[in-house]
Order: sequence, then C-alpha cells, then structure tokens
Amino acid sequence: MLSAAVEQLLLPAECVVCHALLTPRDAHRVVCPVCRKRWRAVRPPWCNRCGQPEPNFGPCRLCAAWPGALQSVRSAVWLEEGARQAVHALKYGGLPRIADDLAAAMGGQRPPADGPSALIPIPLAAKRLRERGYNQSEVLARALAQQWRIPVLLDALVRTRETPTQTALTPDTRLANVAGAFALRIDDCGLRIGNLPIKSAIRNEQFAIVLVDDVFTTGATLAEAARALEQTGARRIQGVTFARAAIPDFT
Ligand SMILES: [Zn+2]
Ligand SMILES: [Zn+2]
Repeated sequence: MLSAAVEQLLLPAECVVCHALLTPRDAHRVVCPVCRKRWRAVRPPWCNRCGQPEPNFGPCRLCAAWPGALQSVRSAVWLEEGARQAVHALKYGGLPRIADDLAAAMGGQRPPADGPSALIPIPLAAKRLRERGYNQSEVLARALAQQWRIPVLLDALVRTRETPTQTALTPDTRLANVAGAFALRIDDCGLRIGNLPIKSAIRNEQFAIVLVDDVFTTGATLAEAARALEQTGARRIQGVTFARAAIPDFT
C-alpha cells in the first residue's frame, strides 16, 4: 500500500470512478464531488436495529438471530455502480486515501457522544491479509477514527479461522458459515480507554464498541464478531459500513 504522500505524487488527480480531472480544490480527494453525490443513501423506513428496509409484512428476519449486544447497524449508501467501484478501489486498488471519501459519506453514523466509544475493524483472515497486504476495514476505521475523533482498537479482534467466501450463500447459511470465526485478544494487549484497561472498559454499559466493515450484505459477519465481543462482556455494540448490498428475494 502506498503512503498517502507518495500516492498523491504518483497518481494523476483524476476521479477513480469517472476519471474526470479533479479541480485543485478536490485534489486531496479520490472520488469527485459529482460521483460522491451519485451514491444513493440508505434511508428509512428501515428496521431500527439492522437498518434494512422494512419487510413487507411481519417482523424483520434479518436481525432476529443477532446477539443481544448488537444494538444497531447502519450503512451509508447502496452498493451499486459508483459505490461498488469505490469499494473495489478501497479493497484492491491500494488507494488508502479513498477511505477518507468513504468515511466522509458515513458522517451520519457517528455514535452519539453520550459515552466513551472505540472503533474495531472487522479483521481479515491471515491468509487473505497476506494476499492483499492490508485490511480494507482497518483502513476505513482509521479514516473514521480521524474524522470522528474516536480511538480505533487494532488487532484486538482476530479471525480464528478462514471462512469460505460468502457471496453465494443465503442469510441462514452465512450465519452458520462464520460461526465462531472471531475471538477477542485483549487480555494482555495493554490498551487503555481513559484510565481503564480495555478489558474493563468494554464491560461498562456506557461504552459503545463500533464495528467497522466496508460492505454489509446479511450482517452475518458483524453479528458473529459482535458475539465474540459479547462473550467477553461487551454490552453495547454498533456496526457501521460504507455500503449495503441488496439481498435478492429477501424482504
Ligand atoms: Zn467522478
Ligand atoms: Zn432487522
């Protein structure tokens, strides 16, 4: 991954989505203002908990099996066209600066400032991390941390096993697919929130942990990560993602 400064020198100042030249005012951007405006925001009415558009009838099935501590999940925009290209650039393009543009679109998801909070990116499995060289959720979490002025806890949450790719799975099989895939490694990490060691801090009812991922599909990954946190005593967990993929035939 290139450092932001080197990246700025090497790359022409053009939008990564539409390739229009960026004006000097937007030279620090990776996506131009026109393309950013085209991202279609996820809006209510939605399930208050998982942020999915309201089901046609009956209660929401998507979040029914989630662990109790996972209180709300929101996504900024729908995963379509330009937003999909932006996620692709974050994931495979090695453009760390694009995370600033994605994080800016997530401004409405900042947790309320009524208590201490920390961001935790969804970790990649070790093998995938080696292949890609960086974790896109961590890059996004770092950008959010800077914009929201909230600490980010790196390496606290780990993947304990490789999970097969989720793309072709139904919501139920996705949940089974990631079961037990995460663990919290905070015992000896020495991290502190204020003057409390992180292990005690996350048990505080006021303490909000915000899980960060690039894309929400069924929420199975966030739910499983939240389960690992809940088992360690976390009481209040939220999830934020840049994009949300529409699930075909799921209402
Ligand atoms: Zn553009
Ligand atoms: Zn729901």
